[in-house]
Amino acid sequence: MIQNFGSDTQKKIFLEKMINGTWGGTMDLTEPGAGSDVGALTTTAEKNPDGTYTITGNKIFITGGEQDLTENIIHPVLARIKGAPEGAKGISLFIVPKYWVNEDGSLGEFNDIVCTGIEKKMGISGSATCSLTFGGQGKCRGLLLGEEHKGMRVMFQMMNEARILVGSIGAISASAAYLYAVNYARDRYQGRDLEKIFETDAPQVPIIHHPDVRRMLLKMKAYVEGMRSLQYFGYYCIEKEKIGKDDKEKSYYKGLLDLLTPIMKSYCTDRGFEVCSEALQVFGGYGYTREYPVEQLLRDVRIASIYEGTNGIQAMDLLARKLPMKEGAIFLNLMGEIEKTINMARSFTVLTGLADRLKKAVDKLGLLTGHMGKTAMSADLKVAFAHASPYLETIGDVIMGWMLLWRATVAEPKLQEILEKQPGKERETIIQKNKNAAFYQGQLNSADYFIKSVLPITLGKMEAIMENCSAVVDIPEESFGG
Ligand SMILES: Cc1cc2nc3c(=O)[nH]c(=O)nc-3n(C[C@H](O)[C@H](O)[C@H](O)COP(=O)(O)OP(=O)(O)OC[C@H]3O[C@@H](n4cnc5c(N)ncnc54)[C@H](O)[C@@H]3O)c2cc1C
Repeated sequence: MIQNFGSDTQKKIFLEKMINGTWGGTMDLTEPGAGSDVGALTTTAEKNPDGTYTITGNKIFITGGEQDLTENIIHPVLARIKGAPEGAKGISLFIVPKYWVNEDGSLGEFNDIVCTGIEKKMGISGSATCSLTFGGQGKCRGLLLGEEHKGMRVMFQMMNEARILVGSIGAISASAAYLYAVNYARDRYQGRDLEKIFETDAPQVPIIHHPDVRRMLLKMKAYVEGMRSLQYFGYYCIEKEKIGKDDKEKSYYKGLLDLLTPIMKSYCTDRGFEVCSEALQVFGGYGYTREYPVEQLLRDVRIASIYEGTNGIQAMDLLARKLPMKEGAIFLNLMGEIEKTINMARSFTVLTGLADRLKKAVDKLGLLTGHMGKTAMSADLKVAFAHASPYLETIGDVIMGWMLLWRATVAEPKLQEILEKQPGKERETIIQKNKNAAFYQGQLNSADYFIKSVLPITLGKMEAIMENCSAVVDIPEESFGG
């Protein structure tokens, strides 16, 4: 933010030390009465004769808000300049250092920012999350970053990046949990092979032999790989937005990234939690204890669906702001990208069936998206928003199918290449002995599993959304009980 919106002096005194880690940084939006509703914040800023602003207010849940690992902490604080309009439009952004930074870069006096409490959390215990009071003694100063009342525009640059990063936390946690689970399933011996179940002297087998455990593992593996590729595609869009050959190409990838951001954030964090939970299941009772690392991953990843804009807020952003971008042209671009993979897959005999199934889901997603748009513009607006999260799930599922099919189109010829180099040898034997062959085979299995076992459920979810069931809106608040 400082790099893109700061003054020359701000860049000179803050950038180097923040980038090289001498000083830490935070983001300070949340207040007790202003969580998702950032516009309701009450922190104030008052201009001083020297051009600085006096900051007064309380923030909560601030990650890295107080720590002694770095010699200074630079807080970007959202506040309202006295007399500014109400709501998000009247918010400005300020650089508020823990210790004041003089114009020559040297540290000045303590800037009256006090940690008033440390949140006791369910997970991420290594992350200092705390409440901060700015200007309790009336001595906290800040520097305006960007223009007055345009703080949200600046903050969104950091928030969009953070949303993508939080999505990665979901994907990475899932990946770690899966690897723990698969290794455990190879080592833990319980039960007998299903085909030898009546042979009392049959030996115990590793649980990875059991179909139900394999089902859990393959489900986790498919999500992990699909999410990893979605993340890579998102980061590819970031690169292309910067280095595209012309403005048209840059804007094409910026559009895709804007559309994908709420999906990367929500879908990957919700699936991340589910995969961690499934991994814990593979460990049985041991997974529920602190002796194994999966329960920690499960607790740690849970926050990712909440911070950086809850997943519910992301789904609303997708429906209200992202789908209508350029009259739906960006959504069509995404559909076009998926179709490219479907056509590519059709050139491999083994993948045509999967390509056809994905095409069916893509077509239905197109219809569903039109339906959501119409409902959101009608008197049934609330019904549309009641389905925003389920809609995000379905688009995420289709993207998983796309990514897994894409991976399969890369894996199939590579696998064939390896097999052809060893004529006469059994495919199974080659796969057992060659790690690359096993990996490529695994990609085909992930795509096969997901497209045949999960995507049909997605089609059902799409049907359900199109029913426009209004129960969520209709139920009287009294009838919730409680
Ligand atoms: C560990 C941790 C670290 C954090 N780090 C930071 C940080 O560094 N900086 C920072 O500024 N904040 C931080 N936060 C705060 C976090 O961003 C907020 O908790 C989050 O934005 C949600 O706000 P809230 O907790 O007030 O929930 P609320 O806004 O009260 O939301 C409660 C529920 O209502 C839903 N809801 C709210 N409004 C609407 C609406 N209009 N339409 C539909 N549904 C709605 C939400 O989706 C949610 O399910 C952190 C929080 C935690 C727990």
